Amino acid sequence: MSDADMTIDPSDIDDSLISLNARKVIRRLNEAGYQAYLVGGGVRDLLLGLTPKDFDVATDALPDEVLELFRNSRAIGKRFKIVHVRFGREIIEVATFRAAAEPEQADSGLILSDNEYGTLKEDVERRDFTVNALYYDPEANVLHDEVGGLADLKARRLRLLGDPEARYREDPVRMLRAIRFAAKLDFDFDPETEQPIRRLAHLIQEIPPARLFEETLKLFMNGSGVECFERFREYELFDWMFPAARQCAEDPESLRIMELALASTDRRINAEKSVTPAFVFAAFLWPPFVDEKATLVANGMPSSDASHEAANSVVADQQSVISIPKRFTGMMRDIWQLQFRLPNRAGKRAAALAAHRRFRAAYDFLIIREDAGEDLDGLGQWWTDYQDASGEKQKDMANSLQTGGRGGGAGRRGGRGRGRGGGRGGGNKADGNRADGNRADGNSLGLNIDGNSADGNTLGGNSAGGNGGGQNRRRRKRGKRKPKEKPAGPPISGNV
Ligand code: ATP
Ligand code: MG
Repeated sequence: MSDADMTIDPSDIDDSLISLNARKVIRRLNEAGYQAYLVGGGVRDLLLGLTPKDFDVATDALPDEVLELFRNSRAIGKRFKIVHVRFGREIIEVATFRAAAEPEQADSGLILSDNEYGTLKEDVERRDFTVNALYYDPEANVLHDEVGGLADLKARRLRLLGDPEARYREDPVRMLRAIRFAAKLDFDFDPETEQPIRRLAHLIQEIPPARLFEETLKLFMNGSGVECFERFREYELFDWMFPAARQCAEDPESLRIMELALASTDRRINAEKSVTPAFVFAAFLWPPFVDEKATLVANGMPSSDASHEAANSVVADQQSVISIPKRFTGMMRDIWQLQFRLPNRAGKRAAALAAHRRFRAAYDFLIIREDAGEDLDGLGQWWTDYQDASGEKQKDMANSLQTGGRGGGAGRRGGRGRGRGGGRGGGNKADGNRADGNRADGNSLGLNIDGNSADGNTLGGNSAGGNGGGQNRRRRKRGKRKPKEKPAGPPISGNV
């Protein structure tokens, strides 16, 4: 046993949290004469007393050798094969030790090829953070710690292995992972790990849009979305992920909408309710969407056309950075368009709107806008009362608007310093308002994150017409936003 090995106090790890299937995989590999360890987030979380999300195994067996041992397995990945061993719904990911030594690099620092297999010691070096580079043998109860990961874990410190700038350049996703782990685990950054992030934030644009979508889900749909968002803004990473929302996020009311949508998502995740990323994306991009629509209307475009156009252009711009699957962009558009239809609720329209398949999400979104400080003339309360009312009462409510003349009224964005928006912009207050209630729970669409149950709707039959005279409009005027300059150098597109 080397210095780096230690038999850990069994009380440090709650055995019952270890997947029996992961144990099975390790045992079988050991019996066949191979080394095999639990590694990565599974070990980190076990040592922190948390329930690991999944279990990764690292071994010196080659992928083909792993495949031979497990009938229920298949190889994934092109360059570097990883074997998935499936047990019902659980997948144990088995990766062969990789060599970190001198991979071929582009001028930018991007790794171009690193497909060589290696030893445990080499495998350690290509990992990201010290706390993710702990190798645990559950059979022998031995922890391999080559890089001081356990000390960092005990000090709740996130430290990148190697030279941080070079590691971020190799794979800019590591900056997102840094933020996510710091937020989720409530760890502090080691100063050298923290220091380059703001300066290198622009490298985010080099991450392939599909990979960035996956990372965005991990960031904002993990139950700590509000914390991630705060750190994101602090390190200016958000600006690069949502360029159109960059300036809006400085406006207290817009910022509040984003925070409230995330707070609602966090609450639902922590209560094990279903969520959809469409709700969060709709909130992030709502301010630029409203701006764009107002500009088009000011240039003479009819309101409903402007809604469609604005949605198209905001979504298309965003897709060039984060590739959001169509089923989610369709849902975002529905949520947006319904914001302009919800005020027009007189007579039979109320029932038709309430029956819309995205009504619930749109209603939740409306409440968030009001909670963020927008003055919608009591529209949210009206819809809350409407849903609570009996069928007869609902008809009365809708009919009285026809005679009472309020049916066509729409909300207006309050703008800076108006209504409740001015004083509520910052911090963690996202939990303490109406969005806590049963109704305004946000994104209650009955979908899972993976969106499997989501139908890939597009704008289709959901015309945003009938805005009447009172469409929403941002009062503030902004100039056309210019993207920040791109850094010089070849594009970075690699994975680890
Ligand atoms: P969680 O699964 O809880 O989100 P994790 O640390 O297990 O966290 P995974 O994405 O499952 O994250 O990765 C497993 C392990 O693979 C990590 O712990 C880390 O050691 C290594 N790893 C993953 N992504 C990278 C990366 N971009 N650069 C270097 N190492 C990485
Ligand atoms: Mg993991």
